[in-house]
Amino acid sequence: ETEAGVAPASARKRHAELAELVDEANWRYYVLDTPTVSDAQYDAWMRELQRLEEENPALRTPDSPTQRVGAPITSDFASVAHLRRMESLDNAFNADEVAAWQARAERLAERDPAPYLCELKIDGLAIALVYEKGRLVRGATRGDGRVGEDVTANVRTLADVPQRLSGDGVPDLLEVRGEVYMPVEGFERLNEQLVEAGRQPFANPRNSAAGSLRMKDPRETARRPLRMIVHGVGPWEGGAPMPASQSQIYERLREFGLPVSDLYRVVGDLDEINAYIEYYREHRHDPAYEIDGVVVKVDGLTLQRELGSTSRAPRWAIAYKYPPEEVNTRLLDIQVGV
Ligand code: NAD
Repeated sequence: ETEAGVAPASARKRHAELAELVDEANWRYYVLDTPTVSDAQYDAWMRELQRLEEENPALRTPDSPTQRVGAPITSDFASVAHLRRMESLDNAFNADEVAAWQARAERLAERDPAPYLCELKIDGLAIALVYEKGRLVRGATRGDGRVGEDVTANVRTLADVPQRLSGDGVPDLLEVRGEVYMPVEGFERLNEQLVEAGRQPFANPRNSAAGSLRMKDPRETARRPLRMIVHGVGPWEGGAPMPASQSQIYERLREFGLPVSDLYRVVGDLDEINAYIEYYREHRHDPAYEIDGVVVKVDGLTLQRELGSTSRAPRWAIAYKYPPEEVNTRLLDIQVGV
C-alpha cells in the first residue's frame, strides 16, 4: 500500500482510463438509456477501480465513479432535489462477500444484526414518490442521488401507483422509493412493435423501463407496460408512527395501497440468506420481471440507522448479483452491431 497522497504514475494512468470508461458508460446508460457495454463489463471496470483505490487511497477522490451514484442529469425534465439522498447498493458476487458484509455489520453494530430481509433485485430504475396528506404530489428519478428528474406526470400514468393512499394512519408526509420495471413479456411485445415501426429496440427490460418512463409525452408512457414495486422509504412524518422494521414498513405500505412484493422473506442467519440466494438462482425466471440478483437488508430500523451509509450506499444492505445471462449480452451485441 502506498502512502496517502501519492500514487504511482501507472496506477494514476489506469485509474484515469477506467474513470473515463465508466463515466462514458454511465452517460449512455443513465442519460441515453442505450448502454453499449454489458453490465458484466461495467461491473468489472468498477471492481478494478475499487481495487486500485484500495491499494492507492489517494486515488479515492470525491469525483471518482466509486464515490458517486448514477449520473448527473441532463434532460428535458425539470430537476428536483430529493427530500433525502437516494443511494445505490454495494455488490457481492459470491457467498464469501455476503459473509464479509454480515461480519462487518456485526462488528460495527457490536451485536448480531439479524433478522435480515431478503428480496429480489428488480432490474428497473429507482423512483421516489412523495405523498402529502395521502396525495401523490411528485415522482422523481434517482438522478445523481441528490437531484433527480421530475417525472410526476409520467408516473401518474402507472396503474400500480396510487394517486391517493388509503387506510388508517397515512402519514402527513411520506416518501416511498421503489423500482419501476417492465415485465419481460411486455418488453418483448414492445420491442416487436418498435422493430415493426422501423425504430430502435431496447437492449433489455431495464433500459426499456427507463426510456419509457422518461418519455416527453406522458401519453406515450401511459401506453408502455410499466409496473412498480416499492422497496424503501424516505421521510415519514405524522400519521401512524413509522414501524420499527423494514418488513413491517412494507406491510404498512401495502395497507396504504402501495405495490409491495410478495416474494420477500425475513430470515434469521447467513445460512438462510444463502438459501434464499440459491433458491432464486434456480428460479430466476419465475417472476414476471427480470432480476439481476437479491438484496439483503438488516430488517431492524434502529440498526439500519446505527450502521448508516458510505458516500454512495447503505452499510445495512448488500446486493448479491447473479452472473450475467447469455441472452442479454447477445441482444446488446446485436444492437450495437458487434
Ligand atoms: P445497482 O443496480 O447495483 O443497485 C442499486 C439499485 O438497485 C437501487 O437504486 C434500486 O433502484 C435497485 N433495486 C432493485 N431492487 C431493489 C430492492 N429490492 N431494494 C433496494 N434497491 C433495489 O446500482 P446502480 O447504482 O443503480 O447501478 C449500477 C449498476 O447498473 C451496475 O452494476 C451495472 O449493472 C449497471 N450499469 C450498467 C452500465 C452499462 O453500461 N452497462 C452503466 C451503468 C450502470
